[in-house]
Amino acid sequence: MSNIKQVWNGVLKELESEVSAFTFDLWIKTLLPVCIYKERLVLSTETEAHHNICEKRFRETIKKAAQKVFPLIADVEIITPDMVSAYEEYKEFEIGTDEAPASEEPASFFAGYTFDSFVIGKSNEFAAAVAKAVAEKTAGGRPSVKYNPLFLYGGVGLGKTHLMHAIGNYIKEQNPKIKVVYVPTEKFINELLQIFRNSSNADARVEFRAKYRSVDILMLDDIQSITNRASTQEEIFYTFNDLYLAGKQIVISSDRPPKEIVPLEERLRTRFSSGVIADISQPDLDMRIAILQKMCLSEKADIDKGILRMIAEKISSNIRELKGLLTRVISYASLTGADPNDMEVISGALRDYAEDTKEVVTIQKIADAVCRYYRVELDDLIGKKKNKEIVAPRQICIYLVTEFLSIPLISVGEFFGGRDHTTVMHARDKIASQIKENQVIASQVKDLKDAVLNK
Ligand code: ADP
Ligand code: MG
Repeated sequence: MSNIKQVWNGVLKELESEVSAFTFDLWIKTLLPVCIYKERLVLSTETEAHHNICEKRFRETIKKAAQKVFPLIADVEIITPDMVSAYEEYKEFEIGTDEAPASEEPASFFAGYTFDSFVIGKSNEFAAAVAKAVAEKTAGGRPSVKYNPLFLYGGVGLGKTHLMHAIGNYIKEQNPKIKVVYVPTEKFINELLQIFRNSSNADARVEFRAKYRSVDILMLDDIQSITNRASTQEEIFYTFNDLYLAGKQIVISSDRPPKEIVPLEERLRTRFSSGVIADISQPDLDMRIAILQKMCLSEKADIDKGILRMIAEKISSNIRELKGLLTRVISYASLTGADPNDMEVISGALRDYAEDTKEVVTIQKIADAVCRYYRVELDDLIGKKKNKEIVAPRQICIYLVTEFLSIPLISVGEFFGGRDHTTVMHARDKIASQIKENQVIASQVKDLKDAVLNK
């Protein structure tokens, strides 16, 4: 069991070096860790008013930092204080593997990542088959030269880490005596750097070597995060060689094939490519639906295939996000007591998802979309003209900006030629009420929203 506070402290440390001191003190530090719920780190804002800003401005940054420290965190959720009690029962949790030093304690793998829970389709069947073969051979104590090393590559969220944990879980179950070590490359390198820094500490180096060279199978996740420091690459090279020559299995994952990893010394590239290279590509729609169906089974959620299809159509390139969206629907339904097969519930959750893409939306992008749609010039849109043909698009544009972005009304006014924030407010409220009464305006606004989101 890990303590949610420890996890959050780890993430805070990471964030401290990634955001400005101002942002860190004013916003990030005020967030309160709530729990880990279904691989999601749940944080709450101090006040309701902070919620929107934190959600829109910092969620992605926090998520990236959290995943760096705890690769098993799939997502970050920021909730309002009144929702905290709903999560009360999830306060204790287990978080993956790599907090414990790998050598002293038997590695524990994330229980959810098994071969059984891995859906196989055209995009990953070779990778899954080789991973299974490697797991079986290693568990049997006889790694095969043919599959060594196994180099898995594929885009973010397509199952590389899942497969590595599946190998670990399988071996541990079949043959607990086999020494399995899984380590994110970044962590491996950090350990190494620490030793290099205290170069006087020869013991540490010996210990490090002993730890990584006494294993039966070493899995290095995300090798693309390798740094071009010669000493790091050299240590990896020797670790690799020692294990390889001793007939031990090596599994490496990367978001790209060996030939595209830069900077990588040629001798490492050659080593990485010398066994079997298996890629994982993007799943097709049927496979995505199958993944969601499997997830429903394990979550005991009864959700219609039509709705699963809708979710699957939203996300094609990242299974983590795909699963995250379903989790969102399920947890929303269970926290609010709503029916997950109710279209409104689903659209609510999917609308949230559209909001995720907000970070790529900019005021400029919205203005461009409005200009194109109404065939007006940007200079006019933000200028002083008061004729009807330009005022209506301008007000709609202001409305869209306030809908999509959480920037102060004063700044919106500045963009629109130095207008007063009360003018901005007036435009926003006027369009908001017109949308309710006027079909034409409503559908124009919808078209524009789709255009802004590139739908
Ligand atoms: P990667 O390491 O390639 O970035 P992960 O292994 O972390 O991706 O996978 C992201 C999420 O997607 C995990 O929750 C994982 O369980 C899930 N996932 C990926 N591929 C599959 C699959 N074929 N079947 C079921 N779940 C999958
Ligand atoms: Mg991964």
